[in-house]
Amino acid sequence: MKSKGILFIVSAPSGAGKTTISKKITEIVDDIYHSISHTTRPPRPDEIDGKHYYFVSKAEFEEMIKREEFIEWASVHGNYYGTSVNNLDIVKNQKKDLLLVIDVQGAEQLRKKHKTGCYIFILPPSMKTLEKRLRARGADSDEEIRKRLKTAEEEIHHYKTYNYIIINDDIDDAVHQLKSIIFAERCRYPNFIPELPDLKL
Ligand code: 5GP
Repeated sequence: MKSKGILFIVSAPSGAGKTTISKKITEIVDDIYHSISHTTRPPRPDEIDGKHYYFVSKAEFEEMIKREEFIEWASVHGNYYGTSVNNLDIVKNQKKDLLLVIDVQGAEQLRKKHKTGCYIFILPPSMKTLEKRLRARGADSDEEIRKRLKTAEEEIHHYKTYNYIIINDDIDDAVHQLKSIIFAERCRYPNFIPELPDLKL
């Protein structure tokens, strides 16, 4: 199933499983490039600069905004996050689809520019489950978790503006659903322009 340069935008509240799901997708689906965002958030212990994010200072990020180097950016939980134009160049050059895992504000900005993108929202089965997952991963302080839950409550209402909704009750099911969406979009006219079979009698 070949890629068509489609923009897949995935949003979800923190702890809904979007990082795990999107990582698995890039392992099982060919020709899809997971963008690497810039952020001013400090790296978590297991995070590598240039792999999980490009970790930059606030001043560097603001310089990049001025130079119009982002296709979208937002301030989330008090830190900047943004997708640089380089990600678009990579998919153009490598003829891949692009997977962006970004917050609802970034998705809103892209929707205005790229109406043809495929917008997917991942929901947790409940807020209680979300809180449990955030605490279980042990990556954030109590205060940070409270901030993330508050943001989640606001973000969740945006699911109505997305094309597809996945409820992440079971990680394997959720991965399977996202893979199905990607494959379906690749077959959808007018995405489907490639080597059509010979249809002459
Ligand atoms: P985290 O700090 O947990 O890695 O990410 C916090 C939030 O920022 C998540 O909702 C994540 O999807 C979002 N995010 C990550 N990269 C970007 C980006 O490039 N742009 C925007 N708008 N949000 C991003």
